[in-house]
Amino acid sequence: CRDPPGGTGASAIVQEVMEEEWTALQSEDRRLPSLWGPHGMAEEYDELAVLEEIQQELMSHEMSIIEEFERNLQFEQQYISSVVEGMDEMHIICPICHMNNLSINSHFLSCTCGLYINTKVRLNISPDVLQRLLEARVSEHMEDCLHNPVFSVAPNADSSPNLMISCQVCDYLSIVL
Ligand SMILES: [Zn+2]
Ligand SMILES: [Zn+2]
Repeated sequence: CRDPPGGTGASAIVQEVMEEEWTALQSEDRRLPSLWGPHGMAEEYDELAVLEEIQQELMSHEMSIIEEFERNLQFEQQYISSVVEGMDEMHIICPICHMNNLSINSHFLSCTCGLYINTKVRLNISPDVLQRLLEARVSEHMEDCLHNPVFSVAPNADSSPNLMISCQVCDYLSIVL
């Protein structure tokens, strides 16, 4: 299990921004020294309230970053478990839309989202063969990179389109079939 990235980094940013705000407030005070009269204490309280507000805002921003990271992780785990579950029932979730089961026969594989790949000219693709191809590529990428790879269909001038797996983060690119 890994810690969310930038946990301490985000806190450092919060601190840094707060220090900047504090310096800005202080220099403002120097420009307007008349504001610091008998009500100095009250105004100091106001500044603390402002700083607290800024901190709250930054903390909630930090939380949303962590939440987004956790959502991505959950999505990845759901996809992987849906692929693994598919092995028993031989239902493979479409890697393009993540919504429908692929239709696979000896001639083509297709999905209602528009994915259509002719498999007759290449291998005799069965669901378990496709399953192994997908898993091999996904785990190959995961050895070096924790980001979600993306599947896409690339046109091929000579034959049927290729199903590609790629990752923009680490420049991984491979043909699934
Ligand atoms: Zn689809
Ligand atoms: Zn990657």
